[in-house]
Amino acid sequence: MTATRVLVLNSGSSSVKYQLLDMRDGSRLAMGLVERIGEETSRLKHTPLTDGGTSRERTEPIADHEAALKAVAEELAEDGLGLDSPQLAAIGHRVVHGGQSFTRPTVIDSAVLAEIERLIPVAPLHNPANLTGIRTARALRPDLPQVAVFDTAFHTTMPESAARYAIDVETADAHRIRRYGFHGTSHAYVSRATAELLGKDPSEVNVIVLHLGNGASASAVEGGRCVDTSMGLTPLEGLVMGTRSGDMDPAVIFHLMRVGGMSTDEIDTLLNKKSGLIGLCGDNDMREIRRRIDEGDEQAKLAFDIYIHRLKKYIGAYYAVLGRVDAVAFTAGVGENAAPVREAAVAGLEGLGLAVDGDLNAVRGAAPRLISPAGARVAVAVVPTDEELEIAAQTYALIEKNI
Ligand code: ADP
Repeated sequence: MTATRVLVLNSGSSSVKYQLLDMRDGSRLAMGLVERIGEETSRLKHTPLTDGGTSRERTEPIADHEAALKAVAEELAEDGLGLDSPQLAAIGHRVVHGGQSFTRPTVIDSAVLAEIERLIPVAPLHNPANLTGIRTARALRPDLPQVAVFDTAFHTTMPESAARYAIDVETADAHRIRRYGFHGTSHAYVSRATAELLGKDPSEVNVIVLHLGNGASASAVEGGRCVDTSMGLTPLEGLVMGTRSGDMDPAVIFHLMRVGGMSTDEIDTLLNKKSGLIGLCGDNDMREIRRRIDEGDEQAKLAFDIYIHRLKKYIGAYYAVLGRVDAVAFTAGVGENAAPVREAAVAGLEGLGLAVDGDLNAVRGAAPRLISPAGARVAVAVVPTDEELEIAAQTYALIEKNI
């Protein structure tokens, strides 16, 4: 029997998300989440997806990632899907920062681990947790191929003109300061799925992808290759997000230090956790913001308007970067679900060939779909993202090639 299953692991600092997929058809066999690792209130929620299985929950304290993965392995084993199954082909790990070193998915060995570790200074919040997840999984199944799939990889095709900041070159190089971009797995998947929706090969189409989740980023994809993206050295740059400011005059930071008396860590927390929509109106969930707007709440309306203004600027900028745009694709929690965001983002852009049809925009569903009026010059689409499927597919393709 050939091994066709891939376990996808997304290890955060205090959480592990996982999905087990069968790559014969991309179907999901199980999924789950361990949260609050290291706290008294840890929780594991496991959902088997075969035979209409129902979710199970564990609420005992889970001390660390090793305990978390062992608990996940036990839950999978209970459904006959254990890590020792001969059908398991590989584990695919989401790794946030691959710097300039990793331009594609990579089979993990000790040299790869060392390189991911070397990148910790540019990804202090994410890479340590990703490494812990990898090391723990390797200890559980040392013989099994494990693959790192990098959030930054899709953006490594950006030209230097888009990837460099206009700061002193020596200083930038000494500290590896450049624009790396994130959400790459989603931008890759969605740009390809958009081409498919248009019935074209990815090499034939130029797409602006708007990944609007709690974190949000835009990318300009020319013939299947990323040529610009809105996140930079870290995920803080670019669009207004749930809790991140996005673009801002960097001198705001000096001002907060000199005049506001704030520390580096306080400003880091302010800009990453207390800004964006939550900083502007106290809510970061677009559903709640829309509800408040419907009740006449001015603060929520202003937060929405600032969010849309920035989004529209990026659509315009990437239109100019690409020269010709075939499609604008909305994805992730907000992009897939919030029709008012899609409508407002392209309102007034008819001159660029962009418009949404009110009825099509109101349709809900899990399938990729067009929301632009028939015959529009530029297609506007809703294309649900699937980062786990993309990680599993990239992992499996690499393993198959190596067999
Ligand atoms: P992330 O992966 O970045 O945590 P998601 O892509 O899951 O985020 O998006 C989460 C966000 O999607 C929520 O914070 C909320 O603002 C938005 N969202 C989810 N469902 C809806 C909906 N039905 N209508 C509007 N916004 C929604």
